[in-house]
Amino acid sequence: MSQPIRKIIHIDMDAFFASVEQRDNPELRGKPVAVGGSRARGVVAAASYEARKYGVHSALASKIAAQRCPHLIFVKARFDVYSAVSRQIREIFFAYTDLVEPLSLDEAYLDVTENKIGMPSATIIANQIRQRIFEETGLTASAGVSYNKFLAKIASDMNKPNGFTLITPDKAEDLVASLDIGKFHGIGKVTAAKMQSMGIITGADLRERSEAELIRNFGKVGSYYYRIARAQDDRDVQPHRIRKSIGSERTFEADIAEEEAMLEHLLYLSKEVAQDMERLKATAKTITLKIKYFDFTLNTRSKTFLSEFSSEDAIYTVARDLLRTPQLPQFPVRLLGISASSLLYQHDRLQEGYQFTLEF
Ligand SMILES: [Mg+2]
Repeated sequence: MSQPIRKIIHIDMDAFFASVEQRDNPELRGKPVAVGGSRARGVVAAASYEARKYGVHSALASKIAAQRCPHLIFVKARFDVYSAVSRQIREIFFAYTDLVEPLSLDEAYLDVTENKIGMPSATIIANQIRQRIFEETGLTASAGVSYNKFLAKIASDMNKPNGFTLITPDKAEDLVASLDIGKFHGIGKVTAAKMQSMGIITGADLRERSEAELIRNFGKVGSYYYRIARAQDDRDVQPHRIRKSIGSERTFEADIAEEEAMLEHLLYLSKEVAQDMERLKATAKTITLKIKYFDFTLNTRSKTFLSEFSSEDAIYTVARDLLRTPQLPQFPVRLLGISASSLLYQHDRLQEGYQFTLEF
């Protein structure tokens, strides 16, 4: 039996950080806004569409941005607000499918081949999602629908802002052939320049090269280029399981009463938590220490910091302080546990403009 054709949606918020600022401050609406940086220093994290007309874009040095657009308004980034909106839109995605792969705070792939509302049309789902995002956040998003990730991503970019594009299988190859090589997701600036020097300007040019030649020039990723030139991409949508906390605990064979023994266990638990955080590419701001006494009474102590951390040392130091504050356990202990929360995942820290370089 052949696989059913997949239905992939790529959702991308429009000028996300800048749009949030314009939403929350009416004085910024209709004006060129740069989030991040200042007139003198720093880098633009996001630019409103009004600013983009002047050639201001994310990752541009603020100084140059101010030269290109003298009346550009710089505002400070409020990442806590952007993360909150990001969580809101992810909740909307999860109403349709659990196969959600976030690329950053404002972008995600969804596989809706099978979905929670039993809706066969990915187009209808994509537009419902855009509608719900607008109703619940007051912000617009663009969506692309196709049968693989590469095409869905290209599609969402075709009618920005507040747009929708469907790329059907019969149209895909011609569309890819006509595309400028710099527009290919996964082909960064450096690679695009190298391709151009080889005479590869469009998708059609890329398609003429053999897989062997592409691998020779670009390494393993050459086979990916060979396939996307043919509108083929079999990468799955990979959901990140969003865990709210990462923890480890241990029940002892015999209750323990000495500080030294407790610290030894905390060291071990810190190592386990740090390893899990490393595996999940997460950092934390909160550490919670769980103490269960010989009589099963439970005590939890936690501390939250302003900055994030992930090292074994940092976790251990906090856990040790929690063990000693307000005072060391006064009764024998049968279980100790450490958990890290207020987690930040690496994919949540990617900012607009950096995704291309990080994709491979
Ligand atoms: Mg975006």
